[in-house]
Amino acid sequence: MTLRLIFFLFLLCSAEVALAADKVVLITLDGLRWQELFMGIDESLINSEKFTKSSDALREDYWDDIPEQRALKLMPFMHGTVFKQGAFVGDLRHGSCAEVSNRKNFSYPGYSEILTGVVDHSINSNDKVPNANKSFIELLRENTEKDRLHYAAAFTSWDVFPSILNVERSGLYVNAFGPLDVISSENEQRIQSFYFDTPRPWTSVRNDVFTHRFALEYLEREQPDVLFISYGETDDFAHDGKYHEYIWAANRTDRFIGEIWATLQRLDAYRDNTTFFITTDHGRGQLPLESWQHHSPTAPEHVNQDSLNRYAQGIAGEEAVWMAALGPDISSRGEIITPNGCLTSNRVAATLIHTLGIDFRTLNPNMGAPLREFLR
Ligand SMILES: [Zn+2]
Repeated sequence: MTLRLIFFLFLLCSAEVALAADKVVLITLDGLRWQELFMGIDESLINSEKFTKSSDALREDYWDDIPEQRALKLMPFMHGTVFKQGAFVGDLRHGSCAEVSNRKNFSYPGYSEILTGVVDHSINSNDKVPNANKSFIELLRENTEKDRLHYAAAFTSWDVFPSILNVERSGLYVNAFGPLDVISSENEQRIQSFYFDTPRPWTSVRNDVFTHRFALEYLEREQPDVLFISYGETDDFAHDGKYHEYIWAANRTDRFIGEIWATLQRLDAYRDNTTFFITTDHGRGQLPLESWQHHSPTAPEHVNQDSLNRYAQGIAGEEAVWMAALGPDISSRGEIITPNGCLTSNRVAATLIHTLGIDFRTLNPNMGAPLREFLR
């Protein structure tokens, strides 16, 4: 056997892990329903005086008789770029199904499932309990030779992420809810001053604009290998029963995601070198109408937080999520139909690890396996 042939065989054998992306950007929108993502604004809800204050404005900006056109108006970047060039799942009308597998259907279990790849049934509240499970980011930092200080970072609107990502153990840089600890540029100083000058709608979730602007500054300056951005407004405006604010938040976040993507395309380190993955941590109700506001554990007796147990049997459809991705290792097949069962959130972490050319089993064999449907 010639050396060339041996080398060729080696390439064949290692093709499985010789993938193109070196960077990962993971984005989540808290509790954005698949209904709005794929069908746009909901006719019953915009006609509800209880839930919608600016019906006319919503109708003018986002209404169309055809659901797909409404969706395009609401989230033009997701539909015009991500769905067109990449792959996505979650439109239940088409037999495209994605769901969380934790049966809790609220945020800490959902994010833990996405980030760690495992379902830990002992997580039974949104309390700030350090996660016993390691995120894929922590595992990558421990197990790869890269030990750059800014190898990875997370910017999150919700203040529980330092616990979900267990910053004491992982040492990850997580800017959650509050201001930046260290200011590195004039731009950051300006954003920080707006942060202090702006009303705070909630006590544990900040306005997404600050999460977004801080993340963009960091992305350009530090160019981390793994960046996690978690936007939160969609969930909190829904809990508040403000459908107009929920819709505006969804539209803004779509634009934010487009800005992150445009930045990645502008930077040599990221262009054609990044797996871009977008998902949500849980669904919400559809019927009865008021259940759109909430999500609730399917087994409330195992949950240690009364505020989550307002629907004793859970809410139909709240386990439904969606996922979308774009990148050099991601298929451009568009919609993924799932005749053999729903794709689940516990497989996201292994999918991301896989696109970096690493076998997830070397990091944590208990993770859900990569979502082959998303891969080239
Ligand atoms: Zn919620």
